[in-house]
Amino acid sequence: MPQVYNWQLGRQMEYPHPSAFPKRQFAFVFNINRCIACQTCTMACKSTWTFSKGQEHMWWANVETKPYGGYPQFWDIKILKLLEEANPEGQVWSRKNGQAQFAGQTIFEAAKKKLTPESSRVLGYLPEDTEWNYPNIYEDNPKGPKGRMNELDKDGVELPVHKTWFFYLARICNHCTYPACLAACPRNAIYKRPEDGIVLIDQEECRGYRKCVEACPYKKAMYRGNTRISEKCVACYPRVEGSDPESNGKPMETRCMASCIGQIRLQGLVNMNEDGIWEEDRYNPLYYLVHVAKVALPLYPQLGTAPNGYYIPPRWVPRDYLQQMFGPGVDEALERYANPDRELLAVMQLFRRSNLIIYKYTFEEGPKIYEGTLRGKKVSVYDDTIIAYGKDGEEIFRTTVEEPVFERSQEHPNSI
Ligand code: SF4
Ligand code: SF4
Repeated sequence: MPQVYNWQLGRQMEYPHPSAFPKRQFAFVFNINRCIACQTCTMACKSTWTFSKGQEHMWWANVETKPYGGYPQFWDIKILKLLEEANPEGQVWSRKNGQAQFAGQTIFEAAKKKLTPESSRVLGYLPEDTEWNYPNIYEDNPKGPKGRMNELDKDGVELPVHKTWFFYLARICNHCTYPACLAACPRNAIYKRPEDGIVLIDQEECRGYRKCVEACPYKKAMYRGNTRISEKCVACYPRVEGSDPESNGKPMETRCMASCIGQIRLQGLVNMNEDGIWEEDRYNPLYYLVHVAKVALPLYPQLGTAPNGYYIPPRWVPRDYLQQMFGPGVDEALERYANPDRELLAVMQLFRRSNLIIYKYTFEEGPKIYEGTLRGKKVSVYDDTIIAYGKDGEEIFRTTVEEPVFERSQEHPNSI
């Protein structure tokens, strides 16, 4: 199998195809600390793409509650278990020259040991129909002391880490750098667009073998029974291209991003180097959050697909759980997120201020507006201004760290 470099693992890995990278890559950051599971994103996607006959069970965008929830049910537990069976107690991270490196096996590497028939290229499983049918059922049960369900911690809870916890995990297709769906397709019906890295299924070529459904570890490729072909999230590509009539030619964020009530989502495009690493672009907000501030981490990087969805982990959840889910960068990310510097605090204001894709930001220092102590540390807050720019360098908006207060006029004392 060809060797490719996966920066999220800190090493080369095996992948069924030689590496080929797009010019730009669709990517996003979700701040889990803010998600309220209102499911507006889920419905925005459903009402745009999967409202037709045969798509009833399809939720390209979904929000599930961890640790008990999953769509399809138990997707992450199941793939982690398969990997553990293939490589018992070997799924660990090590440190090499101060850098974290994954010492275990990815779904591509573990495939050799576990798969029958041998022609399969990726370790995976095909969910039963019932596993797709009940998203969110029985999910909102906090994990109690020592993992006992339905029992709350009697001493109450307090940050930074709760004994009783759950959190909401919003998910879409990660438009992976090394897509497992694409690797598994025997008809080469799945492709990654060179202009933006969006992963699509050619509906003419697909014959519904469901190899992609089996291989995608995130279970974001789905089978449609009445057409007998597979479908998946298309990253609202007409919006991202700027060809959607609503976009007036300007690249726009996807429907799930644009509708987010909790303001947890920021999506855009990052430039790629020829070696598949993000090109240094210090003032692209996604580049800044992932590679400079390092507060946003990939979901289950150990699976090996190099997902392009990144998450700011929830602060109150036990670290071992988070490390399994987001890799070895969790402690560092949470330390930075809980004690943000001026730039990070300003960049966090970019989330959901506009539907247009932000390509770049600048940051202007403002006056000090607060001084105090937080969890034993001295903090100062400044009313800095952040300015967002679009594709052609035009200013999209500017906003400040301190939210402006608007007083309702006497004429309209009620909001409705
Ligand atoms: S998340 Fe799954 S469906 Fe999406 S690109 Fe990655 S492997 Fe393919
Ligand atoms: S719209 Fe935003 S806040 Fe609401 S469930 Fe989706 S990601 Fe969470």
